[in-house]
Amino acid sequence: MNTYPYPALTADDAAALLARLGRTFADGRTKPLAWRVEQLTRLRALLTENRAAIADALWADLRKDRAAVDSDEIGTTVVEIDDYLEHLEEWLAPQPAEVSVPYLPDGSTAHTRFDPLGVTLVISAWNFPIYLLLVPVAGALAAGNAVVLKPSELAERTSELLGRLVPAYLDTDAVAVVQGGVEQTTSLLAQPFDHIFYTGNGVVGRIVMRAAAEHLTPVTLELGGKSPVFIDRDADIETVAARLAATKFTNAGQVCIAPDYVLTDPETADALTKALAKAIEQLYGADPKAADNYGRIVNDRHFQRLMGLTGSGRTVVGGDHDRAEKYIAPTVLRDVRPDEPVMQEEIFGPILPILTVADLDEAIAFINARSKPLAAYAFTNNDTTRARLAEETSSGAVSFGLPVMHVTVPTLPFGGVGESGMGNYHGRYSLETFSHRKAVLDVPLH
Ligand code: NAD
Repeated sequence: MNTYPYPALTADDAAALLARLGRTFADGRTKPLAWRVEQLTRLRALLTENRAAIADALWADLRKDRAAVDSDEIGTTVVEIDDYLEHLEEWLAPQPAEVSVPYLPDGSTAHTRFDPLGVTLVISAWNFPIYLLLVPVAGALAAGNAVVLKPSELAERTSELLGRLVPAYLDTDAVAVVQGGVEQTTSLLAQPFDHIFYTGNGVVGRIVMRAAAEHLTPVTLELGGKSPVFIDRDADIETVAARLAATKFTNAGQVCIAPDYVLTDPETADALTKALAKAIEQLYGADPKAADNYGRIVNDRHFQRLMGLTGSGRTVVGGDHDRAEKYIAPTVLRDVRPDEPVMQEEIFGPILPILTVADLDEAIAFINARSKPLAAYAFTNNDTTRARLAEETSSGAVSFGLPVMHVTVPTLPFGGVGESGMGNYHGRYSLETFSHRKAVLDVPLH
């Protein structure tokens, strides 16, 4: 049964769609640099010419404020597109490889080249429904692929808007949007795509990977996890609190790389609690519910899940909530035990537990006893502490002094490891993800 107000998509419909885009790819239309540049330029225009409509949709879906939409959804995606427009030709140039093999004739040469994969599928999540969909799509197009976009049904208004805008701007013979939820995605997953790029939770990540295995379709899985923050006693606590609050509570904490929990010594924990209360008030005023720049929880199911987590430890900041409005205040918990519910799953909401550890050794052991997170953060002035955290823990990324912002640097690969995902993207790394790096050996005939 179709549970969402989206058109049904049977497996036969999905097969017909794949065949249609497959014909365009086989005809060679998507391969020339000129086609790729034109599609990327149009994708850029889609974003810059529809700022107001995009902001309205995101306000309806997530109560995301317009400034955040401009920077976190449109601006960050445009930066990625501009990176391709500037560098794509250079990145696509064949890369010479040295041939120093004694049994090959003199004059043999070798190089690698990027081949597009074919028809790719991008399935994305609701929390940054523009950015998380269109950044991988930009990579797929830059690499010369056809692409099917599956926005998240939980960001309903944004999904509907993309369903209208994408065909108006991009080549409809090579790019298609499928809207819907489990039913439509299941039909898509039954098809032999040439690559599947999935962003979302690990339970569905496993479903995607199982379906892909049937056709030996390669997958990129951008998942989540509990990203820890270690705070050293030498860090300036006002700066830490301001940066922690800004990155934890943006989008009401519904960010895959949001700081999930804090590890620090008991004295720093006391100072941090006070400083966080102040920082939260500076960001959102005395009543965050009335603030235009504070978001809402995406749906009632997630609201109820998060309320279940607020029972862990002791609430020292926030705690206020309103189910009708799906509002949960920025909330800080102390005296949380590692076996309590808030420490058993990715929080993905505006709740920040502070746990105490005796020292860096204990913090590293705590992180390593759990699944590999998407990011690990630390505030410290100590070079050895930074080096030890980078060396002795495993996570998708490690970032010092400011959480979250590594995602905005297109020269860095973005992706997880272990439970937080596999593969990566952004900038040149997306090109690698959506291409086959083909080996070419050329041996002279004389
Ligand atoms: P979601 O509910 O929007 O699901 C993601 C996608 O999976 C959607 O397009 C949905 O239609 C599809 N889907 C859901 N159930 C399915 C099923 N049974 N079969 C096939 N497809 C199905 O998003 P979510 O999973 O709630 O997103 C939150 C999670 O995503 C968090 O764990 C977060 O950390 C992670 N995330 C990761 C990143 C990243 O870049 N690594 C970014 C954002 C979110």
